[in-house]
This record gives sequence, C-alpha cells and structure tokens, in this order.
Amino acid sequence: MKKFLRYILAIVLLLYFLATFMVSPILDRQLNLVEYSDPRQLGAEAQELYNSLEFIADLHCDALLWDRDLTQKLDYAHLDFPRMQKANMSLQAFTIVTKSPKGQNFKQNSAGAFDNITMLNFVQGQLPDKWFSLYKRAEYQARALQKYQGKLDVKFFLVKSRQDLKKLIESKQADPEVIGGFLGIEGAHCLEGNLENVQNLYYEGVRMMAPTHFFDNELGGSAHGLSGAGLTDFGQEVIQEMNRLGIIIDLAHVSPKMMDEILDQTTRPVLVSHTGVKGTKDSPRNLSDHHINRIAASGGLIGIGFFRGAIKGEIKHIVEAIKYVRDLVGIEHVALGSDFDGAATTPIDVTGLPFIVQELMDQGFSDLEIRAIMGGNVKRFLMEQLP
Ligand SMILES: [Zn+2]
Repeated sequence: MKKFLRYILAIVLLLYFLATFMVSPILDRQLNLVEYSDPRQLGAEAQELYNSLEFIADLHCDALLWDRDLTQKLDYAHLDFPRMQKANMSLQAFTIVTKSPKGQNFKQNSAGAFDNITMLNFVQGQLPDKWFSLYKRAEYQARALQKYQGKLDVKFFLVKSRQDLKKLIESKQADPEVIGGFLGIEGAHCLEGNLENVQNLYYEGVRMMAPTHFFDNELGGSAHGLSGAGLTDFGQEVIQEMNRLGIIIDLAHVSPKMMDEILDQTTRPVLVSHTGVKGTKDSPRNLSDHHINRIAASGGLIGIGFFRGAIKGEIKHIVEAIKYVRDLVGIEHVALGSDFDGAATTPIDVTGLPFIVQELMDQGFSDLEIRAIMGGNVKRFLMEQLP
C-alpha cells in the first residue's frame, strides 16, 4: 500500500513538473491572439515614414505575466525583444498584473472571485510565496525585467529616470537594435494595503501604476467592480505618495467617480495607458468626453488600445479613436496603448505597427502628427515626468 502511494505521488510530481513547462505557453498561445479581417497593404511611403520615426513607444503590454524568456522570438503572442527590434521600437511599458478574477469581464467583477493568476503561477512552477502574496508577484515580475538590463548580447535598457531615457535615445542612435522598457503596475492591490510598498515598488523600478484593475480594491472602485466607489482614505495616501515619488498615475480601469477624485487631487499630469473612447465605442472600458477633457487639461496622455473592448477590432478603428481624441483635445494628448499580451485579441502584433502609420496617412494625419502619436508624445511626457 505504502509503495503504491509513493508511486502515485511520484506520478503527480512528474505531471506537475511537466505542466510547469507546458501549460503557461499553451495559455499564452491561446489567449494572446492576432486576428483581423480587413485587407491590408503597406505602401512605400508609409514604410519610409515609419522607418524615419526616431522614437516609437507603447504604453501598455503584459508580456511579463507569461514568465517567458523575452529574448526568444516566438511564433505566437504579440511581443518579444526580437520583434521589438524588428519594429524599430524605442520604448515599451511592461505592466505587471497580479490578480485576475475568474470570469473577468468589463461589467462587474467581485474581488473575492477565484483568482486565475494563482493558478497560472502554480502551473508556471512559481514558488509558494507567489501563490499567496500579490506583492511578491509584482516584485518577481519587476525583477524579471530588470534581469535583462546589462546582459551580454541583450541590447535592453530599463528606463527609470530622464537620464536613462536620454541614454536610451543616444544608444539607439548609435545602434538601432537597442530597445527600452519601463515598468508599470496594473492594479495597486499588490500593495496589500501597505503604503510603504509604494516606495518598495519604486525601488524595484516601477514608474507607473494604475490604482485598480478589474475589481474594487483597498484604493477604491474599479470601472468593472461592484461598488463604483471613489477614492478611499488609503487611495488618497497612495496618490499623494505616487505624486511625491514621481510614479505616474495610470487611470486605466478606475471607476468614473474615482477618476474625477484623482484628477481633483493629483499635482502631476496623469495618463491612461490603454483605453478606448466612448465617442467611437460605447463600453464601460472607455473614456467619456468629460474625462478625456480633464486628462488633457492635466497635461496628460491617452494611450489608445488595440484590443476589442476598446475598439471594434480593426486597425481603422484604432485610428478612429486616435482621431476622436485629437479632434477633442489636440494631438499632443494621444499615444499608443496596445495591451499586447494582455490576454487580448489585437489586429497586429508589434511588427504590425507600420500598418497603423499607413492607416493614419490614409485618414489624413500629417507627418508631424504621426510622429507625435507613434512615440513623440510619450518621449516628451516621460522627459517631464520621470525622476
Ligand atoms: Zn488592462
């Protein structure tokens, strides 16, 4: 009997060991899709303009969630370092997701629902500290990106300051294969209700943070939570601390009430790293004109997402949303906020960015406007806001 139990245990352990190599890539492949139905071609003029862009940037990507080796080029999902290099990107925001409720949707989610990321971390073979601590998950993902910095043959810069950004730009001028990243957080529940963790995450290199994600947390209400609440006292303290340290406030996913209260309180410009606009797609995920106006008035940036939910699904819809923001508040407030690898379906992977330039040209945007959208605005904003 004892021998039999030992035999069963060995099989279970072997299966778990195999699962840690196989399950995460399978989910990654199934959940981060590229799908489109519009015919597309890239003219020589658009390609030439794309090639001449000196700074291409995107405000949102969840690649760290999948525990990949980013130096390896994949034939699935949306982004890795080789594909960033092929796309001539300068800077990508790598955002950290620490909790995702089962049945996640844009309408209503409970904080108490079973957490998909607990299971994901388990099948990734993560140590038990990550099964139970949201802070440890954030720390692990931040360090996973830090590790690439300074690695031989990996031309990656982690940007934590204006000085780093300048260094990145200079290095890329000398060597086009140089790429950069900066760290963001999607949902400040990973602070675990401890104000000191804001500073701890700052030391881990985090320079942008969204107060909520898909459910209400210690800071206040999510756009997809149950309460629709505004900022809590703890939320106010976190906002002040972020302003003090120079961590950029990302308003993606917060409730409309909380958005107004943060805008009342913040002493710095805010951004929305990945969103759509209600003016082109009416969804609880998307920004109202009122909020677009207020974010622009703060001196902020609006990153237009490529995923269904933010837009209807094709490249022309991304550009429609960009145009909507430009016409309402001006070109200097628009950026790209793809949501690559965010368990999202998008019409392109990162190497498809030239198609956006083509569509921008087709919809009448000028060269100067295209440069601003594709990265110029992000560069200016970070030059002003990074420590
Ligand atoms: Zn998101």
